[in-house]
Amino acid sequence: MKHLGIFGSTGSIGTQTLEIVRDYPDDFRVEILAVSSNVAKLEHQIREFRPKKVCVYKEEAYLDLKNRIADLSGIEVYTGMEGLLACASDPCYDTMVAAVVGMIGILPTMAAIRAGKCVALANKETLVTAGHLIMPMLKEYHTDLYPVDSEHSAIFQSLQGLPYNGPVSDGNAAIKRILLTASGGPFRGRTLAEMKNYTVEDALRHPNWAMGQKITIDSATMVNKGLEMMEARWLFGVEPDQITVLIHPQSILHSAVEFTDGAVIGQMGMPDMKLPIQYALFYPERKQMTAKPLDLFQVADLHFEKPDLVNFPAFALARDVMKTGGTLPTVYNAANEYAVAKFLRREIGFTEIGDMILKAVSRHAVISNPDTETILQTEKETVSYLKTL
Ligand code: NDP
Ligand code: MG
Repeated sequence: MKHLGIFGSTGSIGTQTLEIVRDYPDDFRVEILAVSSNVAKLEHQIREFRPKKVCVYKEEAYLDLKNRIADLSGIEVYTGMEGLLACASDPCYDTMVAAVVGMIGILPTMAAIRAGKCVALANKETLVTAGHLIMPMLKEYHTDLYPVDSEHSAIFQSLQGLPYNGPVSDGNAAIKRILLTASGGPFRGRTLAEMKNYTVEDALRHPNWAMGQKITIDSATMVNKGLEMMEARWLFGVEPDQITVLIHPQSILHSAVEFTDGAVIGQMGMPDMKLPIQYALFYPERKQMTAKPLDLFQVADLHFEKPDLVNFPAFALARDVMKTGGTLPTVYNAANEYAVAKFLRREIGFTEIGDMILKAVSRHAVISNPDTETILQTEKETVSYLKTL
């Protein structure tokens, strides 16, 4: 039995993780649930799963939750970063589902690894900004990290059977390159001029996936694929030039690996995040899953094209950011988090997300091999700069 700490339990990944727990009640026990502020949903989850500990990051919501569950005994309630860190390193659980959104996940994920927890990681922003610190930590603390992001799960699944050391590779000599697929999002084929007028509702209409708001906007700008290149780089120990992005509008091939002998092995399936979550939780086992099966006769055509670097400038920028490394991926990511939040509040237009990222990245003096403090400081400085615009 696995004892789970689900960080981000009220989100898209968090709730799908809990569906898997419902499907396999004998395999999982939920020990920790952590959220930002959605206490109404959290209360339902608490009453159903009876965790030992819960954390509500925002203090006002934390006080509200305490009132809501006053009739329940034996549940410890925490708040703030202190609360997240106390939960992340608590001995009551063994597997963290890292499903918070944004680089707020860095410190709790690190705390979990230090405490020897296994991590099922959806929270890509943590690897984008601190992958160079996280990956060596897994070795140091003798623990494992399994990708939940569907493309990275597909790559990981494609690597099974190779003589390779554990779930995350130091760079396998047999990998020639990674073929990272992207749907292209709702604005594939559109021009920047057209995109200027697109609203929040337009950008949230993803053709294939139902996800949280932030990652859905990231898919519309294609920044998500930029972040995923950086995530893949750390997870699989490859060089930036070994990652090729393919636009594949059907989202059936979830990514593939080309090997040195020319073989290309990929993973296909209907777009459904439950599979990569379940694979990360049961690895190396494959288990029954009730989901729509892939009918290749019905899909009929699988289409691939090159990404449009002109109309998706923030995606085009990502490769240089990845190559430069150091604090630059943090600036790219922090500027994106800030700009997406502003766009969702309707304070800026869609194409201004890319403009803000570009401005923040171009003025930054890169610090190489940053420690955690430098990463968090860089995030703060990026946000302070963007606030002056
Ligand atoms: P959602 O916005 O749906 O959910 C985010 C979750 O994180 C919520 O439970 C939220 O709580 C919680 N949260 C946010 N801030 C904090 C905080 N400071 N402390 C504690 N909890 C916090 O996001 P998604 O589920 O879509 O995405 C989660 C991560 O997974 C992201 O990094 C995303 O890129 C990645 N991912 C998601 C995929 C998907 O299909 N959704 C696919 C691949 C990757 P509250 O509800 O209270 O706000
Ligand atoms: Mg993905």
